[in-house]
Amino acid sequence: MKKILVLGISGSIGRQTWQVIRQHPEEFQLVGASFGDNLELLPELLKEAHLTHIWVKSNDTRLALKVQYPKIRFYSGEEYMIDMVLDTEYDLLVNALVNFIGLKPTLAAIERKKNIALANKETLVVAGQFVLEACQRQQVSLLPIDSEHSAIFQCLQGNQRQDVKSITLTTSGGSFRDKSRAELKDVTVKEALQHPNWSMGCKITIDSATMMNKGFEVIEAHWLFGLPFKQIKVAIHRQAIVHSFVTYQDNCTIAQLATADMRVPIQFALSWPKRLEAPSHSELDLTKTPPLTFEAVDYDRFPLLALAYRVGEKKGNLPAVMNAANEVAVSYFLAEKIPFLAIEDIVIKTCDTIAYSPEVSLQDIYTWDGEGRRVAAEIAKEFLL
Ligand code: MG
Repeated sequence: MKKILVLGISGSIGRQTWQVIRQHPEEFQLVGASFGDNLELLPELLKEAHLTHIWVKSNDTRLALKVQYPKIRFYSGEEYMIDMVLDTEYDLLVNALVNFIGLKPTLAAIERKKNIALANKETLVVAGQFVLEACQRQQVSLLPIDSEHSAIFQCLQGNQRQDVKSITLTTSGGSFRDKSRAELKDVTVKEALQHPNWSMGCKITIDSATMMNKGFEVIEAHWLFGLPFKQIKVAIHRQAIVHSFVTYQDNCTIAQLATADMRVPIQFALSWPKRLEAPSHSELDLTKTPPLTFEAVDYDRFPLLALAYRVGEKKGNLPAVMNAANEVAVSYFLAEKIPFLAIEDIVIKTCDTIAYSPEVSLQDIYTWDGEGRRVAAEIAKEFLL
C-alpha cells in the first residue's frame, strides 16, 4: 500500500489524483492533502480517505475544522505547508500546486527521501538545478505527471539514456492555434480558456495559448532527462493522441499514445514501475482515431516558446524572472486588466530589462522571483486596459 500526500488537491490535477487513488484502494491510500480556496472536495475526503494531516489556506477554517475533527492535524499559512510535508507519514508526495510556491515543500520532501510525483512545472523551470541535485543526493525518484514528460519517461523505460538522439514534445497548439497574430489582438479571457483537447486549470490553459507552457516544458525536460536544449524539439500535433516521442541513435522513434486524459500520466506516476488497470479512461482504438498529423512550430508566431529556449540555455536568474513575469502577466489577463498579446510583451520586456546574472544560489532565486514580479507589474502599467 502506497501512502500518498497530495499538495494542491482542490485543483484540476489534485482532484484527478484523488480519482485515481480512489479507483485503486488496494494500492493507494491518501493520507494528507493541501487545499486552496476551493473546499468542495473536503467533506468527501473526510468521509472516505482517513486523512491524518490537512493544510487549508485560511486560519479560521483551520480552527473550525480542528474542533470538529480532533484526530486530524490541521495546518494553515504558506510557511506551515512545509511542516505538513515534514510531519506526515507517506511514501510519495504529489505536487499538484500551481506556480512557484511548490518549490519549498518539494525540497523539504526530497530531504526526507520521499519520492516525488511532480505536476508543478514551475518548480523545475525556476530551480531545476537545485531540485535535481537534491534528488541525486538523496536518491529520490522524480516522476513526471505532465503528459509530455510522462510520455518521454514511458518511452525511455528499458532503454539507455545515452542512446537518446532527441526527444520531441508534442503540443496541440492551444486555444488559438488557428488564429493569426493580428486576430489575437482582441481575444477574450473566455475564448482563451477554451482549450481544444485538454481540460485543465485556468493558468495552464492561458500558458498553453501563449505556448509559454510548452516553453516551460522544454526547460522541465532539460532537467528531468538531462538533455541539452538542441536535443529537445517541439511539434504541433492537433489530435493530442501521441503525447511525445523519443528518437534513438539508431533512428528508431518510440512514441506513447493514449486518450487525452490527465489520469493516464497521474496513474503512471503513482503506480510506477507497475502498470495498473485504468477504469477511468478507455483504450485507444487506432482504427477509429482521426489521422495523426505533425507540424513544425512557427517560433515567430509563438515568441514565448522561443524565449524559453534562450532563457533555458542561459539559466542564471533568467528562468525565475521569466516565470515571475509570466505569473504576473497571466493573472492580469485573467482579471481582464490587459489584452492577451500584452502577456508576451510583459514577459519578454521583463527578461530584457532585468540585468542577466549567470550565478544564482537557491536563496537568490527567491530574490529574482520578487524582482521579476516587481518589474513585470511596472511594465504592465503600459498595457492596462
Ligand atoms: Mg503538458
